[in-house]
Order: sequence, then structure tokens, then C-alpha cells
Amino acid sequence: MKHEVLDTRIIDDILSLLARHWGKSKHPEHFNARTVDEAISLLNEYKDEASIIAGGTDLLCLMKNKVMAPKVLVNIKTIPDLSYIKEEAEGLRIGALTSITGIETSPIIRDKYPMLAEAAHSVASPHIRNMGTIVGNLCQDVRCWYYRRSPITGRSFFCLRKGGEFCYAVGGENAYHAIIGGQKCFAVCPSDMAPALSALGATLKIVSPDGERAVPLDEFYTSLGNTLEPDELISEILVPTPRYGTKQRFLKFRLRKTIDFAISSVAVAITTKAGRISNTRIVLGGVAPTPYRALRAEDTLKGEVITDSVAEASAKAAVSEARPLSMNSYKVPVTEALVKRAIVE
Ligand SMILES: Cc1cc2nc3c(=O)[nH]c(=O)nc-3n(C[C@H](O)[C@H](O)[C@H](O)COP(=O)(O)OP(=O)(O)OC[C@H]3O[C@@H](n4cnc5c(N)ncnc54)[C@H](O)[C@@H]3O)c2cc1C
Ligand code: SF4
Repeated sequence: MKHEVLDTRIIDDILSLLARHWGKSKHPEHFNARTVDEAISLLNEYKDEASIIAGGTDLLCLMKNKVMAPKVLVNIKTIPDLSYIKEEAEGLRIGALTSITGIETSPIIRDKYPMLAEAAHSVASPHIRNMGTIVGNLCQDVRCWYYRRSPITGRSFFCLRKGGEFCYAVGGENAYHAIIGGQKCFAVCPSDMAPALSALGATLKIVSPDGERAVPLDEFYTSLGNTLEPDELISEILVPTPRYGTKQRFLKFRLRKTIDFAISSVAVAITTKAGRISNTRIVLGGVAPTPYRALRAEDTLKGEVITDSVAEASAKAAVSEARPLSMNSYKVPVTEALVKRAIVE
């Protein structure tokens, strides 16, 4: 046992020494932005060659594994006043640099937006939640093992998402890939915060050299990433106040209980009036390339009283568009069970 531990440490040390050695000639230039304007002007100057870095918990892994090699890093952690949670008349304003721990432990969020706190609590480990920011979580890259495979290991895959011709997952190892909505790329959106924020109807404030634009989270993701331009930065998330009588629940199924990405997750917000469902939003995570709004499931609930059979019908409708790949049909019953449980709870 002692030897195993020692061996792994030695291998880790060698790998990090090699990584440092290989990276020497192409060390990225690093700028500490002091204001949003300064960050935007750097992004505008360097465009595709630059990457924003916030907590670095995703970006640095991609760089270390040589999946990404930005020439310029624009550090936004040095911008003061971008980490806040403010409650205002129209809802919640969350600053881009707010940590996931900040979301998880905020008394306002726990009280009025409990689904967000539940989703935050389910993310990674305490260390990563302390370092990782809410916007970094939304913008993190996919976890597909073909995509993430480092050239340092001797083999990498120039798949369709990287500009290649093929998706290796379609005919390969696809146990964790999409069961709904996959077209060219079948990697799932890995963010747990995205379905919860989407179920709450959140909007992103995006800043660019041309000014600001507001993008509903529902319209932010695309099958191969998101709609951010190279010179844009997300400065804030706006979450409308839930309607009176709204109940929320976020549930996630993962293989390892300690740290793991979602095999499937569901965020449900249900508003009732006089005991009947008047409004609902159901968003699935971990099953599609983008957070998936289960509109058919929502439709079945309108005007109903919540019972086991109503929840069951809605859960069936939630997965009615599922088209699993060769190794991931198990995700269908898992998702169905999660949706039913979330509605009943
Ligand atoms: C071991 C491990 C387990 C994990 N488990 C989970 C999990 O269970 N669930 C889950 O949801 N996530 C999980 N994650 C992902 C983790 O939550 C993210 O790495 C983290 O939230 C990213 O935040 P960051 O601030 O570190 O982002 P960074 O790594 O700094 O950036 C990530 C991306 O976001 C972009 N970005 C950051 N801020 C902005 C901004 N303001 N505007 C525009 N673009 C921006 C960066 O350019 C980069 O592309 C896990 C990560 C690890 C390493
Ligand atoms: S699922 Fe997407 S990221 Fe993975 S191999 Fe296919 S194209 Fe590449």
C-alpha cells in the first residue's frame, strides 16, 4: 500500500515536471484586470488568443492537459466588487465571481431560491466550490473523455468538437453521453448550476466593447458550446423572484457520492394556486448537450393536483424524446425516476 502511494506521487511529480518543461516555450501572457472595462479591452485586443480565467479549476486542467493553449490569460479575479449576492425588488443579482460556496451558504438563497443552494451543494468538493465561481461553472468545458484525453498520454482525439471530422463517442464509449438532443456532438453540459438557474428563469448580463446584452440562460448554450463572443464577459446573473406559492427541488444522480458530475439531474419549480399547478418549469441536466427544458413534462402538469400518478405521467413525458446511444439507455429510467421524485417532493 505504501509503495502504491509513493509510486503515484512519483508519477504525478514527473508528469508535472514534464508539463512545466513542455510548456516553457509557450508560457501564456498573464494580465490581472482591475476593471471589467480593462478585461474587455484585453479580450478585444487578443480575441481568440485570450481566455478569461476566474477560479481556474477547469481552465487550468485543460491547459495542463494541453487540450487548450491560450496565449493570453485575462485574470478577472483581480476585479473588485464582482462577487456579491443582492436581493432587489425584481429578484436576485449574483456577481460573476461569486463562489459556488457563496451560493450554497447564502441565507437569502437558502430561503427563497433553495434549488440553487441544493445544486451548489452537489458540485464537486468543498475545495473546488471555494475556488470555482458561478459563471465559471456555467462556462466550464465538456467532460467527454475523448475530448479531454491529453496528448501527453500519447494519444489524443481530434474530434468534431475540436474541428475534426468525427465524434468518437457515437461508435465508442458513450456511457456518460447525451440521450436527448445530440446531433453532432454528444457530450453533455456538465454544469449543475445551469439546470437550476434555467428552471428559475435566470438571465445573463454579458458585457462587450459594444455595450451590454441580456441573454436568457435558456438561449445561452449551443450544441458545441455557448453564444459568448471572444471579446465578451459575463458580469452578472439575474434571477427573477419566484412567484408566490412556488416550490423548488434540485436532484442529482451521480455514480460516486463524494465528488462526481451528474449522470442525470433535474431542477423543478412548481407554482400552485388553490392546490392546482398553475405554472411549472422542469429542466434536466447531464442528459443533453445543453440544459434540457422538458416542455412535454411541464404540459402534463398544468391544472393538475400533484399525485403519484400525475408525477409519473410527467416523468414519462420528460424522457419521451430520449434517443439513447449504445451504452447509455440506463440513463432513461434514472432520469424518469428523478423527475417523478422531484415533483412529488
Ligand atoms: C474534480 C472536479 C469535480 C467537479 N465536479 C463538478 C460537479 O459535480 N458539478 C459541476 O457542475 N461542476 C463540477 N466541476 C466543475 C467546477 O464546478 C468548475 O471547474 C468550476 O465551477 C469552474 O469555475 P472557475 O471559476 O474555476 O472557472 P475557470 O476554470 O476559471 O473558467 C472556466 C471557463 O469559464 C470561463 N469564464 C469564467 N468566468 C467567466 C466570465 N465571467 N465570463 C465569461 N467566461 C468566463 C473561462 O474562460 C473558462 O472558459 C468539477 C471540477 C473538478 C475539477
Ligand atoms: S461527444 Fe463531442 S466532445 Fe466527445 S468525441 Fe464526440 S464530438 Fe468530441
